[in-house]
Amino acid sequence: METMEIYNPFDRCPVCGGKKLNLTADREVVCTICGSSMGFIYPEVNLGSLLRNEPLSTDVKLNGALDQISRVCEILNLPSQVVEEAREIAKKLLSRGARVRKEGLTIFSVLVASRKHNAIRRLDEIILALKRLGYEVPRSILRILSKLVLYYGKPLLIPSPILYARQITSKMASDKVIDIKYAERLFRKSIELASSGLIRTPSTLLKASLAILLADISLDKKLTPHVLSRYSGYSVKTISKHIKALLKEDETGLISLKMSELEPSAVRRRLDHG
Ligand SMILES: [Zn+2]
Repeated sequence: METMEIYNPFDRCPVCGGKKLNLTADREVVCTICGSSMGFIYPEVNLGSLLRNEPLSTDVKLNGALDQISRVCEILNLPSQVVEEAREIAKKLLSRGARVRKEGLTIFSVLVASRKHNAIRRLDEIILALKRLGYEVPRSILRILSKLVLYYGKPLLIPSPILYARQITSKMASDKVIDIKYAERLFRKSIELASSGLIRTPSTLLKASLAILLADISLDKKLTPHVLSRYSGYSVKTISKHIKALLKEDETGLISLKMSELEPSAVRRRLDHG
């Protein structure tokens, strides 16, 4: 899978601390060491400016930062233990001397806390919440996050595709896009596919997302790339492109889709029209 490297020695993965945080062609920030996906950097974030050597130091007031974290968590519908954890992380970072823009502190704390409690929120979701509250997101956000990793220090649990698959299917069920019983079947089938070696991508989020759609295709066909786009953050174009590529590879016999129920022609029709 094609990736664009961000040539920045400061870019560290907030999950494993590794220095292999890449930007893929889908504008997703992915660690190629542990496979963690941070979410998406959309075109409004000027990537050129990420590399600028701008000063990061600024005086952050603890109460202002904690207040911002609580408000962002509320918009993101996060449970109270995540809010508490995020506030603790911010306090710890400030006490260790991290001096970055408040928004950077908030993004890092929510990103990490939500992962620790299996209620993952992506970079793009947190940025959107900040924008809804009227805050401006620093353009050098990736550099700020990398810097905060060094202050934070402790590696996190690595989210596997299973965690993402569980989260996406549960959210679909709670929004009544699918019923709970189908969500469970979809989840089980998707982890089977995600662990089969079928979908080769460094991003565990992309792997889980594609596995869910393939699982749906082999089960009751209730989803479309549009629905998956809403729940995974990937564009419809990206999802369709990857699914088509997977089906094409199967056609040429390079890999086996291992799904006897799969009808590629029907899937392609759905992808083209839906
Ligand atoms: Zn990593």
